Amino acid sequence: MAVFTKLDCTESNGPEGFESPELTQEDAKLAVLNEKLKILAYHDPLTGLLNRQGFRESLDEALDEFAVWGVEPTLIFINIDDFKSVNDRYSHEVGDKLLQLVGARIAETIGPETPFGRLGGDEFAALIQRKDQPDDAVAIANSIVAGFSEPFVIDGKRLKINASCGVARASQISRDLDALIKAADLAMYHAKRSGVGGVTLFEARMLTEQEDQISLESDFRDAIKNGHFQVFYQPLVDLKTRKIVSFEALLRWPHKTRGMISPEIFVPLAEETGLIVHLGAWALREACLEAMNWPETIRIAVNLSPIQFKSPSLLATLFETIATTGLPPSRLELEITESALLGPEAANIAILEEIRARGIRVSMDDFGTGYSSLAYLQNFEFDKIKIDKRFIQNLELGLSNSAIVDAIMGICIQMGIKTTAEGIETEEQLGLVLAHGCCEGQGYLFGRPLINEDARALLARQASQA
Ligand code: C2E
Ligand code: CA
Ligand code: CA
Repeated sequence: MAVFTKLDCTESNGPEGFESPELTQEDAKLAVLNEKLKILAYHDPLTGLLNRQGFRESLDEALDEFAVWGVEPTLIFINIDDFKSVNDRYSHEVGDKLLQLVGARIAETIGPETPFGRLGGDEFAALIQRKDQPDDAVAIANSIVAGFSEPFVIDGKRLKINASCGVARASQISRDLDALIKAADLAMYHAKRSGVGGVTLFEARMLTEQEDQISLESDFRDAIKNGHFQVFYQPLVDLKTRKIVSFEALLRWPHKTRGMISPEIFVPLAEETGLIVHLGAWALREACLEAMNWPETIRIAVNLSPIQFKSPSLLATLFETIATTGLPPSRLELEITESALLGPEAANIAILEEIRARGIRVSMDDFGTGYSSLAYLQNFEFDKIKIDKRFIQNLELGLSNSAIVDAIMGICIQMGIKTTAEGIETEEQLGLVLAHGCCEGQGYLFGRPLINEDARALLARQASQA
């Protein structure tokens, strides 16, 4: 097999037959030039490794050999984790040098006989051919990942990076080159999703899941276009009186065949596509309009995605919604998570301050699940903190959860911030939360998310009881 693993076009003895007396000197020059062009066409100028085209040629030959000799080719796709941040933090020159060093290090791990290339960006691929030990490739992929434990040194800077690998064997799929490449790529995507520095072997279910995801995404776009979403309302109660003080607006997607789809599935999808800005603005408007049907003392809480928070249209959308729905701003609470607050703190605080200046309340959602919670409490006066349901639901189980809730409550009481305990499901949990000094709660014990008519009916019942 022709393995142009490393680029070297400075010297060439020319193609076979170059010495032939029938060839004129012009022909010979042309042949040498052709050969050089071919080498260039098959190699990546930055790293000297095979490029996508060159690697595909090697794989093509390996697949032919598989058909004849039964030596199974296995692909390893290697991708640097968070490579973009190297370019962003340092420079493209540093990024380029890193790619060269990474290429050299992987080449050293897999040995000179293994066809290896850079397919583009920070994506590398190796082609393993072993007759009797198909699991070799996974072991090799693990060694590649382990090879990244040593930092890369560039201009005196020590860069600590990781890589993820996807592995796919030709026998797992049809002997089609593109299908094999797609399988390795998919396995790599799964490796990345399961955390940094992972190795994942392709499984057939990944293809079905991917098709499923693609169809879901297409349905999602249709649902956005046709306005097929609903807002549900879950009560938040005063824990002592169990009276409703507000509702949290929670999105739902009623799907024609899959039933009601949870926001946990489609909100990330909406965030990836940027459609959350549109969807979130719709939910906000819908919730504010609905709240206009409730008694004036009942507030509405609306979730803001980090993508919405970063969107330049956020403030305009908020103020316009307040103006056109007529909802007094003091009746609106925005719930933001810590992930919305990653990035420049001063800019985030300026946005939060502007929201507050208009009289809208700001709550920190899922408190305790991130790592910047405490720092933010010092720099911005949140109206409320929602203690994440995982702490509440484990209150009965562990001392450590109890200590965390105690610590959060202690800080909030000292700073005069209201707290809401999320996910209260049992009387026992309610008792514990009350004992910790929490005043407001939300959870299935008091009510599940409801359609708007049911929420109104609940409020009417509460009014008649009063
Ligand atoms: P979240 O903001 O933490 O909302 C609370 C979630 O906890 C809701 O799930 C609610 O139904 C659930 N929950 C409430 N009480 C209990 C309980 O007692 N036990 C249990 N196990 N769960 C309880 P849901 O409606 O599935 O929403 C999930 C997440 O989706 C929300 O978490 C929020 O992050 C996101 N989401 C929902 N609606 C919107 C929206 O309009 N915009 C944005 N950006 N995100 C939304
Ligand atoms: Ca929330
Ligand atoms: Ca929450």
